[in-house]
Amino acid sequence: MDIIVLKPGATDDDLQHIVEKLQKKGLGVHISKGTERTIIGVIGDTSRVSEDEENAIRAVPSVENVMRIIKPYRLASREFHVEDTVIDVGGTPIGGKKIQVMAGPCAVESREVVLGIAEAVRSGGATFLRGGAFKPRTSPYSFQGLGEEGLKILAEARERTGLPVITEVMDPRDVEVVSRYSDIIQIGARNMQNFRLLLEVGEARKPVLLKRGLSATIKEWLMAAEYIMSRGNHEVMLCERGIRTFETATRNTLDLSAVPLLKQLTHLPVVVDPSHGVGKWDLVVPMARAAVAAGADALMVEVHTNPEEALSDGEQSLKPDLFAFMMEEIRKVASAVGREA
Ligand code: PEP
Ligand code: MN
Repeated sequence: MDIIVLKPGATDDDLQHIVEKLQKKGLGVHISKGTERTIIGVIGDTSRVSEDEENAIRAVPSVENVMRIIKPYRLASREFHVEDTVIDVGGTPIGGKKIQVMAGPCAVESREVVLGIAEAVRSGGATFLRGGAFKPRTSPYSFQGLGEEGLKILAEARERTGLPVITEVMDPRDVEVVSRYSDIIQIGARNMQNFRLLLEVGEARKPVLLKRGLSATIKEWLMAAEYIMSRGNHEVMLCERGIRTFETATRNTLDLSAVPLLKQLTHLPVVVDPSHGVGKWDLVVPMARAAVAAGADALMVEVHTNPEEALSDGEQSLKPDLFAFMMEEIRKVASAVGREA
């Protein structure tokens, strides 16, 4: 049910005008006349009323306010699906008791470097290998990734280590090739509202990790998830990776309050990427601990065997030793909050 509040002084004609509009949409009404204001309770499946239609009702001069009770994201909402969604990635569940850890370089740089990092993160305790083959770089002159050659390197690393892989897709035309090599498709922060791309991964039969946009609200982020789900792909996880604020001392502001809030609003698994969230390697471990304490289902962390030589994001990459230490740390926090890592 939605609620429409009329302005003080609205007449019976004004009320009738709105009631007729609602009836034309197949909706019923429950009218409550107070001393000051009349309130219309809208009865029926208001999830079918679009935001544009809702805003058109706001344009009626006698209307003071329209309150939406049903969330505009339906498939992603906790109301639609009460139980937590657990996504099974080739036998590895994301969203269950065990906290999964996706670790690896920012970019797939070369076969040798990636195979080395893959072995290092596996022995440190990672459960997924991450690495970008298509890189969304701010500058067109920066390293852009190896493309399909990078995907092949990831596939070889999976074969050697047994770790399933996650990698980013930036263009709807590459969804097919990325799905062929990767176990999870990543949508980067810069593409969170690339609607054509969202619809394309919605057609894919692969789990999707949807990163939060640089300045996206929780609602915009959930609506982006809804785009993917609306095409039939319900295996979506949300990744908090920091948002733009006035603060420049850290690369972004890691919004850990998003984690428990998302747990209320949606049934989808929640992932936290402290690496992009803070942008500094020596702040990653404490924020990884905090993410687990806040209820994250998985972490995504950048690791490099030689951060000084990394082609991107060396300043926020953990060396393998520190990554192994992080794993020990999050195991302690996980057990304190009834989880495993
Ligand atoms: C990444 O994971 O390598 C990346 C580019 O992250 P984001 O989209 O969050 O900036
Ligand atoms: Mn990166």
